[in-house]
Amino acid sequence: MNNQQILIVEDEHSIGEVVSLYLRRAGYDVTYMDNGEEALTFLKTKKPDLVVLDLMLPKVDGWEITRWLREHGDIPIIMVTARREETDSIAGLEMGADDYVTKPFSPQELVSRVRAVLRRAQPAGQVQEEAEITLGELHINQNQRLLTIAEKEIPLSVKEFELLWFLMSNPRQVFSRDQLLENIWGLSQYIDPGTVTVHIRRIREKIEEDSSNPRHIQTVWGVGYKFEP
Ligand code: CA
Repeated sequence: MNNQQILIVEDEHSIGEVVSLYLRRAGYDVTYMDNGEEALTFLKTKKPDLVVLDLMLPKVDGWEITRWLREHGDIPIIMVTARREETDSIAGLEMGADDYVTKPFSPQELVSRVRAVLRRAQPAGQVQEEAEITLGELHINQNQRLLTIAEKEIPLSVKEFELLWFLMSNPRQVFSRDQLLENIWGLSQYIDPGTVTVHIRRIREKIEEDSSNPRHIQTVWGVGYKFEP
């Protein structure tokens, strides 16, 4: 799977780090920078799928980065404004930002905005089919990289997500650890099959907390796993 890349530019480290963490958990590749100068240099050679941009930054501010981005393409921008005043947010949208959040905001709220903006940004004709599976109380959506149990969102790492997606795509079918390694990680000869065991354990822990049936992922003969709806 090809992960979408997000650049976060934010000089308040506590915010930058929490936002990075939530976006990584949501399955995005995150690059985090704390000043505008570094961000501009980065943007001159790289093209992330979306930029989360604080307005008040040292050296080069968010306005200047927005101006530069709009002169050089259409990378979606979500602005982070510190001020209560609507004027900054509106000016930001007029300059070409796609959305904005006002501090303080919840990281989960920002993740939802990122998803929405990225979906809107997909060129017409390339909009992917909704790829989703519902098995009992578990609902998994591949485009949004989202697992919900009874409507509650369960955060998964990229590999945990891919592993669960694979098992749920083939319910009741047993796969050995080597088969799962090959399908999810690819280069199985370089990775210990124990990796699969560790990831299965983490998924189970996350599912068990919120599921009425903790035995969705079953171990078969000690060598493989299957998903039981
Ligand atoms: Ca700031």
